[in-house]
Amino acid sequence: KIEKKEKEVVTAVSAPIITATEVKVNISIPDAAEKAAATGADGVGLFRIEHMVLGLEKHPMKYIKDGEIDKYIEELYKGMKKVAKAFYPKPVWIRTLDAPTDEFRTMEGGEDEPIEANPMLGFRGIRRDLREDEHFRAEIRAIKRLVEEGYTNVGIMLPLITHPREVERAKQIIMEEGLSLEKIEFGVMVETPAAALVIEDIIKVGIDFISFGTNDLTQYTLAVDRNNENVAYLYDETHPAVMKLIERVIKICKEHGVKTSICGQAGSYPHVVARLVEMGIDSVSANIDAVQRVRETVARVEKKLILEKLRKL
Ligand code: PEP
Ligand code: MG
Repeated sequence: KIEKKEKEVVTAVSAPIITATEVKVNISIPDAAEKAAATGADGVGLFRIEHMVLGLEKHPMKYIKDGEIDKYIEELYKGMKKVAKAFYPKPVWIRTLDAPTDEFRTMEGGEDEPIEANPMLGFRGIRRDLREDEHFRAEIRAIKRLVEEGYTNVGIMLPLITHPREVERAKQIIMEEGLSLEKIEFGVMVETPAAALVIEDIIKVGIDFISFGTNDLTQYTLAVDRNNENVAYLYDETHPAVMKLIERVIKICKEHGVKTSICGQAGSYPHVVARLVEMGIDSVSANIDAVQRVRETVARVEKKLILEKLRKL
């Protein structure tokens, strides 16, 4: 009898919680796709492809120099497909390459990486994607192949945007590669104060969604290196300045019908998630082990908001 009761309790606890705010999951390695999908998450809010790329036998630019771009595209395609397939038809936002130079240096062929005093303020993200557009084009070709196979659940997300012209140029390259953005979602990360402050102009270029990269947004807003232990005590995603930028972007995106999400570490913290749901964020993307906890938080906050509204009627 006790066993039966326990079973009922377990079933009740593990029953899926439906929320209006979507709860997604972050993925760094394609092999985690099955486990991530098993959480029942509403999609992948961030697929960091650099972990897959850093795990390859050589640097992307070395593949290109060696005339093996097709081999590189094949590797990207295989990894992306694993994730797109595990989640189909739920959306999978693939972030274009974003690794700092110091991480690339450890790879075969990485010895040519520039030595930078501040890699986090350096040659990474969209800057690199646009300057060394060969590897960016390789990613687009891999995505195009997936779309042609019917995986229209993949989306493209650009990292470290600071100016609308970066989005414009990226779109131009995507078009040159013959990938139509009519079929798939296209968006940017808001992870610099600059992007948050010029979001209106970025929206004008044409995007479907934005996602807050609060790890970077916090470090750049507060001038606190996210990898520096000496200033770790100052690192706070809920600092009023960070929250103000987020609130501003959510409000403006809502006015323009652009979806908002978060994929930084703070998306796994219930206290931050609660505030974002109150601000009206459309989705939250958490680490695999935090999905259930975040879902519970979202459900609780949504319930509270509905009750508050009803009481005012
Ligand atoms: C972020 O900056 O919050 C983010 C999700 O990107 P990354 O941690 O990979 O820089
Ligand atoms: Mg980032």
